[in-house]
Amino acid sequence: MSGERYDVVVAGGGIHGTGVAQAAAAAGYSVLLLEKSDLAAGTSSKSSKLIHGGLRYLETFQFGLVAECLRERAILLRVAPQLVRLLPFTIPVFERTRRGPMLVRTGLSLYALLGRFGPGAAFSTLARREWDSLDGLRTDGLRAVFRYSDAQTDDRRLTRAVMASAQSLGAQLAMPAELLAAQLCDDGCEVHYRQDDREKTCRARVLVNAGGPWANDILGRVLPRQEEFPVSLVQGSHIVIDHRFEQGIYYLESPRDGRAVFVMPRENDTLVGTTEIRFRGHPDTVTPYPRERAYLASVVEHYFPALRGAVAGKIREAMAGLRVLPEGKGHAFHKPRETVLRTDRKASPRLLSIYGGKLTAYRATAEKIVGRLAPHLPARTRMADTSRLPLEPADDG
Ligand SMILES: Cc1cc2nc3c(=O)[nH]c(=O)nc-3n(C[C@H](O)[C@H](O)[C@H](O)COP(=O)(O)OP(=O)(O)OC[C@H]3O[C@@H](n4cnc5c(N)ncnc54)[C@H](O)[C@@H]3O)c2cc1C
Repeated sequence: MSGERYDVVVAGGGIHGTGVAQAAAAAGYSVLLLEKSDLAAGTSSKSSKLIHGGLRYLETFQFGLVAECLRERAILLRVAPQLVRLLPFTIPVFERTRRGPMLVRTGLSLYALLGRFGPGAAFSTLARREWDSLDGLRTDGLRAVFRYSDAQTDDRRLTRAVMASAQSLGAQLAMPAELLAAQLCDDGCEVHYRQDDREKTCRARVLVNAGGPWANDILGRVLPRQEEFPVSLVQGSHIVIDHRFEQGIYYLESPRDGRAVFVMPRENDTLVGTTEIRFRGHPDTVTPYPRERAYLASVVEHYFPALRGAVAGKIREAMAGLRVLPEGKGHAFHKPRETVLRTDRKASPRLLSIYGGKLTAYRATAEKIVGRLAPHLPARTRMADTSRLPLEPADDG
C-alpha cells in the first residue's frame, strides 16, 4: 500500500462532488477530490440553472423533494447572494394549455406553503392592461398570467465557489485527474488515478462516487466488482439565443407535448430549455440534436409571434446534459427526481455512489452523505456549518 491517506476521496467535480468535499471538510475530515476534466465540466454546467423547488414536481406529488429544495433555496439565497438571486417568473395560461388557471393557482399556493412562505413565496396575477408589456407574448386565447418568484444561478460558478469553500477548509483538488481503478480493502479503499501523465495511488476510508452520468462507469472500475444501479440517462438540451427578454423568466408549456419549457434571459442573451430524450451512448459523447434545437425554437416562436421564423437564425450555441433517472417504464417527466445513495455494504461502507439529484439540493444531499458516513470515519473536530458558510464567486467569468 502506498500514497497519501485521506478520510474521504471524491471522484467527480460536479456540484455533488464539490458539495461532498465541502461538507466533509467542514466536518473536519481530510478530503481529496479527483476531477478528470474541469469543475462542472459535466451536467453541472448544462442545467437550467434554476435554484428552485420545481413547481412541476407538484404534479407528480413529489412534495418532500419540493419542500427540501425550497429550504435549500432559502439557504443559498442567504449564503450566496452574489451567485443565487430571485427573479420574476411569468406563467401565461391559454385556452389551449393543459394546465388551467385554477390548477396553476393551486400549485403556486402549495409551492408557497411548502416554502413556508419564505423569500419569494408571494404570487399574483397580472391585470389585462399589463399583458402588452410582456416582451411581445401572444395574447390571443390568453386567459390569465401569473407572476411568482424563483431563483437562478450560474451552475458552473456555483460549483467553483463550493470547491473554493471546500479548499478553504483544507480539501485538496487534483485536476485534471481521472480515477482509473479502486480496490476495496477491509478498512477502506486503494484509489488509482492518472494526473500529469503519471499514475498515482492514495488511500481512502471511503470513496464517494460523484460521477453523475458517469457513476456506473466509475463503478465498473471498482474491485471487487459491484452491481450497477439500473438508471436511464435522459438528455436535456438548451439553446442560447441572441435576443433579450426584459420581463424575467417565462415558464411555458410546449404546444406539442405539454412539457415545461423555460425562456430565461441572461445578461446579453436568453437560455431556452429543455428537452427530454432517452440517451444510450457514453456520457462523453452527449451533444444536442438538430431536432432539439428546432423543438425549442418552435416553442419560442409559438409564444412570441414577432420572432416567428427568426429564432433558428439567432441560436448562438446549444448544449446538452444528462439526467440520471431510475430505470423503469414511463415518460421521464413522471419519474421521481429523488437522489439515490448506494453503498457497497451496510456496515462500514467503503464506497458510496450518488445517482440523480438536483443542483438546488446539493448541500442537503452532501450533508446526508457525510452524516451517513460519519459513524464509519475517525472522530474529527467540526470546522464549520455549510448552511452558514458564505459562498463567493471564485473567478471572474
Ligand atoms: C438538462 C438538465 C437541466 C437541469 N436543470 C436543473 C435545474 O434547473 N435545477 C436543478 O436544481 N437541477 C437541475 N438539473 C439537475 C442537476 O443539473 C444535476 O443533478 C447535477 O448537475 C448533477 O451533478 P453531479 O455532480 O452529480 O454530476 P456532473 O455535474 O455530471 O459531475 C460528474 C463529474 O464527474 C467527472 N468524472 C467522470 N468520470 C470521472 C473519473 N473516472 N474520474 C474523475 N472524474 C470523473 C466528470 O468530468 C464530471 O465533472 C438539470 C439536469 C439536466 C440534465
